[in-house]
Amino acid sequence: MTKKPWVKVRAHSFILRSMKKVLVTGGAGYIGSHTVIELLNHGYIPVIVDDFSNSDKRVLKGLEEILGFAPSLYRCDCTDKAVLKKVFEAEMPDAVIHFAAFKAVGESTEQPVRYYRNNIDSLLCVLELMQEFNVCELVFSSSCTVYGQPETLPVHEKCEQKPATSPYGYTKQVCERILTDATTANPTLRCALLRYFNPIGAHPSGLIGELPYGVPNNLVPYITQTAAGIREKLIIHGNDYATPDGTCIRDYIHVCDLANAHVKALEWLDTKVSACEAFNLGQGMGNSVKEVVDTFVRVNATPVKVEIGPRRAGDVEQVWADASKASSLLQWKTERSLAESLKDAWKWQKQLSIG
Ligand code: UDP
Repeated sequence: MTKKPWVKVRAHSFILRSMKKVLVTGGAGYIGSHTVIELLNHGYIPVIVDDFSNSDKRVLKGLEEILGFAPSLYRCDCTDKAVLKKVFEAEMPDAVIHFAAFKAVGESTEQPVRYYRNNIDSLLCVLELMQEFNVCELVFSSSCTVYGQPETLPVHEKCEQKPATSPYGYTKQVCERILTDATTANPTLRCALLRYFNPIGAHPSGLIGELPYGVPNNLVPYITQTAAGIREKLIIHGNDYATPDGTCIRDYIHVCDLANAHVKALEWLDTKVSACEAFNLGQGMGNSVKEVVDTFVRVNATPVKVEIGPRRAGDVEQVWADASKASSLLQWKTERSLAESLKDAWKWQKQLSIG
């Protein structure tokens, strides 16, 4: 077999951790699949649970190629408690990372009931089964949308939460509240609520990455598809914001750095007797839409046709993270720059266009 430089599975760590098994709901999705690799790199055994409602079989092929074997996988909708129970029975996991949720802000405003049903029900099913099977550690996939437009920047975990601007954001606020209440009532349950800023990029192998269905909503997939000729031009949604270049500012974080934070959160939960803590996961700095486009063009030497359009409804002007809590408590920090993220995103897009 040819050597794959991105595979870093450390055999000794398997022995040290006595093979802790982690159920990864939504493990075939964008962040989930990168987390599966990080878990294996750190001696955990991931078990993927995914209903493939918003993930693609190509990710499984990529995972298998990266890892050299196919990780355990159950096709299961997490709102179907009877089926999910069978997975718990068969696998007896030690911990759960819960990604499985709908995630499109715009779609959630069109289909709020579907979003509430799926995102809240799936967490409740997971929680009830964790209780039944005595599983005490949960890492929950949350989002910086819980903050709305913050009054001070960077956003700290303690910053006052504004009403969510979308049903999607509200599901994350409600799920965080459910977990806070559940851990208060049952202190043996330990939770890390990971608030993602803007995950971008792809695995450096170019074998897994983001696979948006239809026209992408997010900036980076739109840029890569425009560069690949799938979209005619990128519309920048407004350049009249009160920012240095007039375009919105976000905190973009490489998906592999984000994935690594889940392992750090599991390690941290292991040291706790009781816990329910939220952590911001971002670079701790903001970049404007124009900066992202310019960096993409520069590092990939690839042109992107751009047009300035009107503002997008619901966009916050600027937001970036104070990630110091994750750095001090989880011993986590980002290792990859915006330039590296955009190189990896382009590598993935080119590979997709060939495949
Ligand atoms: N954006 C843009 N054109 C696009 C997609 C996004 O100008 O085709 C902008 C968007 O208005 C926002 C930033 O890029 O200011 C990041 O948007 P994204 O949807 O990726 O993330 P979110 O808004 O959820 O932070």
